[in-house]
Amino acid sequence: MNFPIDKIRNDFPILHQKVYNHPLIYFDNAASTQKPEAVINAITNYYRQDNCNIHRGVHYLSQKATEAYENTRKAVQTFINAPSSPEIIFTKGTTESINLIASSFGKKYIKEGDEIVISAIEHHSNFVPWQVLCQEKKAVLKFIPVTPGGELDMDGFRRMVNEKTKLISIAHVSNVLGSVFPLKEIIKQAHQSGIPVMVDGAQAVSHLQVDMQDLDCDFYCFSGHKMYAPMGIGVLYGKEKWLDEMPPYQTGGEMIKEVFFDHSTYNELPFKFEAGTPNVEGVYGLHAAMNYIQELGLLNIAAYEDELLKYATRKLMAIGEMRIIGTAKNKTSIVSFLVGNIHPYDTGTILDKLGIAVRTGHHCAMPLMELFKIPGTVRASFALYNTFDEIDVMAGAIIKIKQMFA
Ligand code: PLP
Repeated sequence: MNFPIDKIRNDFPILHQKVYNHPLIYFDNAASTQKPEAVINAITNYYRQDNCNIHRGVHYLSQKATEAYENTRKAVQTFINAPSSPEIIFTKGTTESINLIASSFGKKYIKEGDEIVISAIEHHSNFVPWQVLCQEKKAVLKFIPVTPGGELDMDGFRRMVNEKTKLISIAHVSNVLGSVFPLKEIIKQAHQSGIPVMVDGAQAVSHLQVDMQDLDCDFYCFSGHKMYAPMGIGVLYGKEKWLDEMPPYQTGGEMIKEVFFDHSTYNELPFKFEAGTPNVEGVYGLHAAMNYIQELGLLNIAAYEDELLKYATRKLMAIGEMRIIGTAKNKTSIVSFLVGNIHPYDTGTILDKLGIAVRTGHHCAMPLMELFKIPGTVRASFALYNTFDEIDVMAGAIIKIKQMFA
């Protein structure tokens, strides 16, 4: 495969350092990705050349920053093939995007006795907001069952949806197992009963080409920092028909049209949902990150990362006494595992001392750990700058760890 890995690695300055005297191997990309020079430069150039509050000034800097901000909105629209740019709302990240929907959609549409369907595999960010909403509204939260391999039990899903179901909220890709869920099937089935679907795309956008018009979901959320952009910037895509009807999530400056002593009227989309001074530097960084991804091509990235995942799975299984948690047919970029009876925390700590950054624990999915009856996993998650050699080093380190504990 002709993937320009040497050039790519040179684009990421942080990768070229030693950790405890070992070259850094960064396999914690599902938590947050590293940033290429292009993104770092976009942020510093913003502060060197354009820094100003947006939408409010008549002067040059304000107009320049506003134009860049709004151009990024259009770039996001193109990146996810959304029908229109006012359907793109900038948020702090996936968590805030989901909370926005839970709060605003929940206020307007959820009543006592209604049902919300999520899966048993969700990140806490796509779990707790619905749990709290259901508690507040005396609604019922239901969980699509999960197979032992980490796929959704689609028969269970079909049995679960009924006339009381008011919303389905589901991850595109599991942050623990890497399973890619059959969204099109879920969305088609939900829409046949007029039920809207929200998608948590936090683990998808940097690995898969996502297309709002093809998926036809009602809401889609993601975070910049998991796609080579800065922290504190994210996106909520929502169909205009919902966003228009939904009440504001936060109130204050920018989200209003007119304010009187006794009432206020609200701004049009997307501004109705962007109260206060936004994260302008984050938006500059997000634009640079999307450009970076698009220059390489998401299909090329996906193909390369798929090879990495298959290679890592083969290498780990060859060690023996390894348990891969999550064996879905359709997976991307994440391998979760346990080494014999060694606690995942011990494996992760020793890997760290050998320069290898992995994540250990419940990965913000405690109900899933309870379901699988495991204390946690070791999770290696890959990005476009990882290499087959790095996987070899991790496999060698795990063999050493096994020997130490034997
Ligand atoms: N959803 C999934 C599937 C995730 O993996 C994460 C982060 O790990 C989140 C939501 C929360 O993202 P953030 O912390 O960027 O809001």
